[in-house]
Amino acid sequence: MGAGALRRRALLLTGVAGLASAGCTPQTAPLQGGWVGTHPERGHRLRGEMPQADGPLRKAGVLIVGAGIAGLACARALTQRGVDDIALLDLEDQAGGNSRGHRLAGSPCPLGAHYLPLPGAEAREVSQLLAELGLSRQLLGRTEWDERHLCHSPQERLFIDGEWHEGLLPPPESPTAREQYRRFSALVTQAQRELGFAMPSRHGRWTPGHAALDAQTFATWLDANALSDTRLRWYLDYCCRDDFGAGAATVSAWAGLHYFASRH
Ligand SMILES: Cc1cc2nc3c(=O)[nH]c(=O)nc-3n(C[C@H](O)[C@H](O)[C@H](O)COP(=O)(O)OP(=O)(O)OC[C@H]3O[C@@H](n4cnc5c(N)ncnc54)[C@H](O)[C@@H]3O)c2cc1C
Repeated sequence: MGAGALRRRALLLTGVAGLASAGCTPQTAPLQGGWVGTHPERGHRLRGEMPQADGPLRKAGVLIVGAGIAGLACARALTQRGVDDIALLDLEDQAGGNSRGHRLAGSPCPLGAHYLPLPGAEAREVSQLLAELGLSRQLLGRTEWDERHLCHSPQERLFIDGEWHEGLLPPPESPTAREQYRRFSALVTQAQRELGFAMPSRHGRWTPGHAALDAQTFATWLDANALSDTRLRWYLDYCCRDDFGAGAATVSAWAGLHYFASRH
């Protein structure tokens, strides 16, 4: 249905282009709205002269800078251990950082992060948090998740070359590309088996092998393993940007592999 609708739209666009070339200018309504999310000008204030504090001075036993999920988790862990003399600061008016929610036309929506892979046995803190939030319960020694909050994968699809494709991985174009997809998957499994990756990462080991991966970019590692297929590289770059906010040429090979190997 989606592909059909898009083909129709492509036809309509062709019609519009035809009219424009015949001297008619299509009327386009100006876009309403603006940017939401972070305020770059606040971050940029740190580049110049430090602003003077203008409120009353307050002392705190612990200062947490940044109220994203990491700062909030830190505050939660301290509170659970009886430390409550905490000041949690953020540049923005709301806590949550990249995981903050938003509302569009009354409907809740994410601004950035919006899903959480189900935690494995080693991710005890995440499991505890989800139980605390009422998203899971223990039943006969098993964790039962609240179905209303589960998304079953794959639910994502790609529009590529004029067609919809199920899943996020672009279909390999040739047997050579398919071989690269398989080899990448095998290398992830090998890294998982031989080095070990875990979520959260502090539950995993840190060995010279991990350090060697951390000392090179993911793109360098992919080049070294002759993984050059354009679509595979597009997908891997997308994954890095999605998870780390930076592409494969910027994040380390450890981070790139961690994305896949820690959730297998
Ligand atoms: C587009 C995108 C989608 C993602 N989707 C997912 C997803 O679906 N699931 C998932 O698990 N992960 C996802 N991730 C990754 C996830 O969002 C991040 O790993 C996580 O939110 C990082 O949390 P954080 O607390 O470390 O940092 P942030 O969320 O970036 O929080 C940092 C906080 O510090 C504040 N801050 C910065 N500088 C200062 C300062 N000088 N003074 C005071 N405050 C400051 C910022 O305002 C911000 O609130 C996604 C990432 C991106 C980029």
